[in-house]
Amino acid sequence: MISDKINRLYSELPATVRLVAVSKFHPFEAIEEAYHAGQRIFAESRPQELLAKVRRLEEIRAERGDSGYMADIEWHFIGHLQTNKLKMVLPYVSLVQSVDSLRLLEAINSWGAANGKVIPVLLEPHVAAEETKQGFSPEEIASVLSSASEYQNILFKGIMGMATFTDDESVIRSDFASLRAIFDSARSNHPALAQDFTELSIGMSDDYPLAIEYGSTMVRIGSMIFGQRG
Ligand SMILES: *Cc1c(COP(=O)(O)O)cnc(C)c1O
Repeated sequence: MISDKINRLYSELPATVRLVAVSKFHPFEAIEEAYHAGQRIFAESRPQELLAKVRRLEEIRAERGDSGYMADIEWHFIGHLQTNKLKMVLPYVSLVQSVDSLRLLEAINSWGAANGKVIPVLLEPHVAAEETKQGFSPEEIASVLSSASEYQNILFKGIMGMATFTDDESVIRSDFASLRAIFDSARSNHPALAQDFTELSIGMSDDYPLAIEYGSTMVRIGSMIFGQRG
C-alpha cells in the first residue's frame, strides 16, 4: 500500500530531510492516495504529464465543488526541460530541480521576467559516469553563482544530483561526495546566496540511505512508494 510506504519513510527519514514523491508514470489516483497519507510534495519529469495531472486535479476540484481540495499539494519538476516547454511547467511548480544548462537557466530567467515571477531552482551538476551530456560542470556552477545577480528572476535554492547507476557502493559514495563538495563550496564561496542556497537534493529509492549520510536535505523517491513504473 502506498500509505504504508509513505508512513514507513516518514518514520525513517531524519527531520532535516524532506520527502519528494516521484509520481511520474503513475496515475493521479496514486498521488491522491499518497496525499491522503500525508505526502505533500510530488515530482514529475515530463512537461506533458505534469500538465495532465495539474488539469486532472482541477477537474476533480470542479467535480467535488471544492476548489480547496488538495490545495497545499506542491509540484517539483525533475526531468530534462526544453526551453520551448517552460509555459507547461513554470506556472505550476514550486521548484525546478533539474536546471542542467546555462541556456535553460537563461530561458527560465527570461520567462520569470516576462511573467513577473521569481523561479526557485536547483542546479544540476554532472558527476555520474553516465552517457548523458546534461548537467553543469563544477566550474560552470561556480561561474553561474558568481553572476547570480544577473538572474533577477531566479532564486538559487541549491544542488540536485544523481549518482551513477551501479551496484558498486563505492562509486555511489564518490558521486555523492562530489555533489556534497559542490554544494559546500557554493555555500562558502557565495555567502550572499547561502541563506537561500540550502537544498542538496540527492537520493532515490535505491540509494537514499547513503545520500542521507552525505547530507541530503531532499530525497526523491518513486518506485519505492508507487511500485515499478509501467
Ligand atoms: C525517476 C527519478 C527519481 C526516482 O527514482 P526511483 O528510483 O523510482 O526512486 C528521482 N530523481 C529523478 C531525477 C528521476 O528522474
